[in-house]
Order: sequence, then C-alpha cells, then structure tokens
Amino acid sequence: MVPIYFQDIEVKLPTNYQAEELRKKVAAKAGVNDFRWELLQQSLDARHKPDVFWLARVRVFSATRKGEIYEAPPQLTIHYRKRQQQVVVVGSGPAGFFAALVLQQSGFNVTLLEKGAEAGKRYQSILGFERGKSAFDSHANYCHGEGGAGTFSDGKLTSRTKGIALEKQFVFDTYVGAGAPEEIRYLSRPHIGSDNLRRIVPELRRQFQALGGGMIFDSEVTDIKISNGHCTEIITPQQSYVCDILLMAPGHSSYDTYRMLHRQGIAFRLKPFAIGVRVEHPQPLINLSQWGTEHLPGLKAADYKLTHTASNGLPVYSFCMCPGGKVVPSAPAETQNIVNGVSDYARKSPFANAAIVAGLQPDQLPGNKNVDFAGMLRWMEMLEQHVFDITKSYAAPGNRIADFLLDKTAATLPANSYPFEVFPYDFRQLLPAATIAALKEGLSNFSRKIKGFETGVMIGLETKTSAPVQVIRDDHRRCEGFDNIYILGEGSGYAGGITSSAVDGVKAAIGIAENG
Ligand SMILES: Cc1cc2nc3c(=O)[nH]c(=O)nc-3n(C[C@H](O)[C@H](O)[C@H](O)COP(=O)(O)OP(=O)(O)OC[C@H]3O[C@@H](n4cnc5c(N)ncnc54)[C@H](O)[C@@H]3O)c2cc1C
Repeated sequence: MVPIYFQDIEVKLPTNYQAEELRKKVAAKAGVNDFRWELLQQSLDARHKPDVFWLARVRVFSATRKGEIYEAPPQLTIHYRKRQQQVVVVGSGPAGFFAALVLQQSGFNVTLLEKGAEAGKRYQSILGFERGKSAFDSHANYCHGEGGAGTFSDGKLTSRTKGIALEKQFVFDTYVGAGAPEEIRYLSRPHIGSDNLRRIVPELRRQFQALGGGMIFDSEVTDIKISNGHCTEIITPQQSYVCDILLMAPGHSSYDTYRMLHRQGIAFRLKPFAIGVRVEHPQPLINLSQWGTEHLPGLKAADYKLTHTASNGLPVYSFCMCPGGKVVPSAPAETQNIVNGVSDYARKSPFANAAIVAGLQPDQLPGNKNVDFAGMLRWMEMLEQHVFDITKSYAAPGNRIADFLLDKTAATLPANSYPFEVFPYDFRQLLPAATIAALKEGLSNFSRKIKGFETGVMIGLETKTSAPVQVIRDDHRRCEGFDNIYILGEGSGYAGGITSSAVDGVKAAIGIAENG
C-alpha cells in the first residue's frame, strides 16, 4: 500500500474566510501540491483586537514525502455480541440516551424510559406556555421530556473534562450523523443550537429504535425493587419492568426520583454547588468589548468567560454563556421558578446572556451547618418554590447590576429577552448572604473587564449549574452496595453539561459491555 504522509500546520485566517483561501494557505505552508486536509481545531483569536482572526490547526495529507507516515488514530470500539440481559435505562437526556445507544449497539436488549413527552409535543408545550396559551406542563418543559435538558438547551458542547477524547469524538460523530453541523468536530467552542437540537434528538431516537432499542415516553419510574443489593424490577404507574441491569440518568431536577433512590439505600454525599442569576446585555455591547467592534464579517456573536475569587473565598464565574440568545423559564415543576439560557444556531437575538454564579459549600447554607441529603434537596426545592411564590407565576425577579452593586433595587428594568415579566427585586431576600457578597464582588470585577457590564440586567434565579449531591459509585459507575445499578450524568454529581453527561453514559455502557 502506498504510504500517506501527514503534517499538522497552523494557519491564520480572516473571520470570513472561504474554503479556497484556506486551501491556498495550506498549500503554501505545507509546501505540497497534491493534498487533502482536515481541520483539527479552529479557534477565534481576539487577543490583539481589532485584529481578530481564526487560528486553524490543519492536518495535511499527501503522498509527497513530507511529514510522517499516517496511521488512523484510535476510535471508540463497540463490540457487538448478542446478549440476553434486559437493560432498563431511565431518563433520555444525553447521559441516558448515549448509554442506551451504546448498550444497544453492543447487543443488549435496552428499554429507555422517559417520564416526559417526545420532543415535538414538548416543543408545542413550551411554545404554548411561553406565549401564555397553555399552562406549564410538568412532563413537557425545558427539563423533562425526550432528550432531557439537552434538547431545548443552548447546545454548546464545550467540556473541561480530561481523558474523554475517544468518547467525546463518538458523541460528536453521533450528533453529526443525526444532522448536527460538521463544524462541531473542530470548533474550539462547538455549538449545535436549540433549533437544530429539537430535530436531531428525534433523529437519534429513530436510529436507536432502528437498532431494536425500545423507547417509552410518559413513563415515570416511581420505584425500584431491590433484593440483596440487586435491582430486580422497575416500577412506573403504567407497568413494571423486569431488569438485569438498571442505569438511572434522571438529571438533577427530579427531586422525587432522588428521594426514591435514597429511600432504596443508594448512598449520596453532599458536594459544593453554585447558585446565582442570569445576566443579560445587548449583544453589540459584548461584541464591542470582545472584538473591538460591534460586527465582524463571518462571525455570529461574541461570547465571554469570566472568573473571580471573592474575598470570602467563593469562586464567582460566568457559566453557559449564550451569545445571541434568550433567557428562558426553565422550571422543572409547576410551583418552582428558575431561569436558564438558550440560543438558536444563528445566534441572531439582540441579547447576550450568561449565568453568573457563586460556588457554595453545603455547610454554608443559611442556618444549616449540618445539612444532610434530605435537607439539601429541601433547601434547593424551597428556594425554587420561593421564587414562584413571590408572584405565583413564572415572572422572574430582576435588578440592574449597577443597582445591585449599591445594595439598591432598580425602579425599572431594561428591555430583555425573557418571555414573561421581569420585576425589580432585592436579591438579598432570596440568596444567602455569602452568595450575595461574592456576586457583588464578582460583578464589580466583571464590570472592569467588560466595558458597560454594570448596565446589564440580572434575572433570577439560576440554580442548575451542577447537582448539589453526588452518588457514591465505584470505578465502573456502579452504586456502592449494589451489583447492577448505575447512576449517570448530571444527576450523579459527576458530570455537568451535555458533553460530559453523554460521555458518562458512554463510559458506563462500554464498561458494562466489556464485563457483561
Ligand atoms: C435551558 C438549558 C440550557 C442548557 N444549555 C446547555 C448548553 O448549552 N451546554 C451544555 O453543556 N449544557 C447545557 N444545559 C445543561 C444540560 O442540558 C444538562 O447538563 C444535560 O442535559 C444533563 O444530561 P443528563 O442526561 O444527565 O440529564 P437530563 O438532560 O436532565 O435528562 C434527564 C431526563 O431524565 C428524565 N427523568 C427524570 N426522572 C425520571 C424518572 N423517575 N423516570 C423517567 N424519567 C425520568 C427527565 O424527564 C429528563 O428527560 C442546559 C440546560 C438547560 C435547562
């Protein structure tokens, strides 16, 4: 076989470059004529604004003896073998879905149970709710239903988790295979977009079903039967399921499911978490700060990533920044009220939003030094209910950042993207004093980093950046004391976000397939 040679090179490209320009630069830098190339990574460099450009790392292949002999890199291997075990996966978010997919591909008989509705019904339900035409549906909203919180998310796929390259590539390839933009494979900040996800998620389901996987909606697991550390049966109001292996990926919004698992003896520990608010600004203000200009050809909307450590030791940081996006009512239950952020692929809204949250240790909850598992869930749930109780609606409390910094409550609030009313409120009545102190310092620091940041509006609350509890599990992701129960994804307390949750599911499934 004729060897193929490769070399990795870096090229600088204008923000609105065309493929032909890339080809010419690659040819010049690589010094070869007959070649093909693959983009390995493309990231925006705005360190020398207004000179903003893409830096692209490109792998150039050619038969010319330049570079090294190419060998295809390793890929995730899924070994198919017909297996007899019945697997039940609970929760169709990224963790549950990808675990179910890999197990089905490995030859298991998988049934995926989802308490919420399928994506199309969910979309109609969210639209009706936001337009005031239908009531909140506790099984068809931003948190629950086909694809979990991932379906109507912003669809950013960034992850800081180390050691997940193969699984991440598998997840991204699967998304691309279901219609996600090819560029997620190489962009340093990959983004699918909420509009794309609601088409991709049902396509993923169809692929899973075509392999023989079973997917059942409107099926909430309310109990499990345990015998000698072994789960034997899964109970839903409609039906019970015998199972050999149970994977639970319920996310971190289903407090009743957490309580059921705890009641059945699954051990959890408390962990640090973070709470705060969303902040929103006009997108041009962020563009100007990040790019040195309000518009750059070829680019959609600028993002930011901000961090600060407050003098009380709490980390304050931006999270899930949604350029060209909107703030949404993401309550997981009817009498709770919290917010989150999303954007479509085009990122065309005139607003930029991000969570600004402060980390909190479990022993810092007000008046609750020795909080336990039940107390922690109660505290979170009550906080989210408290926000709902202010107006008995999904109107959101808000304030201007500048007023918040002065311990004042604004008389009026600027225009914003939230679909319901945002009313002026003193966040000191909602959040612990340590959180308020840290947020004030953080927002003040961020106002020095981004010109005009203090003119933004705060919209609350943001409580779902990560789970406040963590299941105790072994290296195979199996719950301590149980031989066939796995808890995965964000609800396990080991993952946060779409990619790390999906990868948690993939890793668990590969482990089960290797040992089963
Ligand atoms: C509005 C919004 C925007 C977001 N944007 C991003 C983003 O841009 N990038 C990013 O990385 N992350 C984002 N996230 C977070 C991301 O969606 C989650 O981290 C991720 O979906 C967690 O995956 P998971 O599979 O662990 O759980 P989830 O996605 O929460 O899925 C859990 C599923 O389990 C189901 N379930 C729960 N209990 C039961 C039960 N007892 N029986 C049956 N089913 C049950 C739920 O209905 C749900 O569908 C966003 C979240 C929201 C809400």
